[in-house]
Amino acid sequence: MQQHRRFRAAEWVAVATAALLLLLCPMPAAAAAAARRGRPAGSPPPSEWGTNGYIEYRPGNGPIVLSAPHGGDLEPDTIPDRTNGTTVEDSYTREVGIMVQDYFHETARPHLIICHLARTKLDANREFSEAAQGNPEAELAWHEYHAFIEKARQAVVDAYGRGLYVDIHGQSHPENWTECGMLLSGNNLTRYSDEDLSDPAVYNRTSLRHLIATAQARLRSGLAGTDVRSG
Ligand SMILES: [Zn+2]
Repeated sequence: MQQHRRFRAAEWVAVATAALLLLLCPMPAAAAAAARRGRPAGSPPPSEWGTNGYIEYRPGNGPIVLSAPHGGDLEPDTIPDRTNGTTVEDSYTREVGIMVQDYFHETARPHLIICHLARTKLDANREFSEAAQGNPEAELAWHEYHAFIEKARQAVVDAYGRGLYVDIHGQSHPENWTECGMLLSGNNLTRYSDEDLSDPAVYNRTSLRHLIATAQARLRSGLAGTDVRSG
């Protein structure tokens, strides 16, 4: 089971900002020029919508892609409720995505993809069969959701060469933590030394491997934030 490193809620924006700074430091001249070619001061570009307004792509021009697969509340009668898998909404994750997107400067605005369908109708963050459970409308929305993510990813690669993808989820436990999933177990973080955690056998498991490699940070200090912030 995936473990999460916990951050206090107030740290989330700081973490995202640190990641952005990390990525901006080595930005090549061409990428900097692409950023400067971003929209002039004023309103952000309009959203692009999937069929029936179930999926929204809010384009950005920075090197970050955000997605919120479980914050939707649309419950169309034409899509029956899913009968297996998790159906609990991740409250306020759509709003968090929009808040984070709007936080950044207009020339480094993250891309954001939102699934507006309730999780009872579609789980855009699951494999296709479990996600849509055979309903053609839900299946189309699933494809559109992932196509928008791919479109955003390509835009980032074209402009910057690399970027950061953050999938936004929510928890209903009472501790009020903000958590950063990184595909490492609690055992990985508590049993192994910093040297062990620098072993590729462990290192390659984490979803932060490219981010840490970019900063030339050691894994543990990278996870702790020290090297990432200074990288
Ligand atoms: Zn979720």
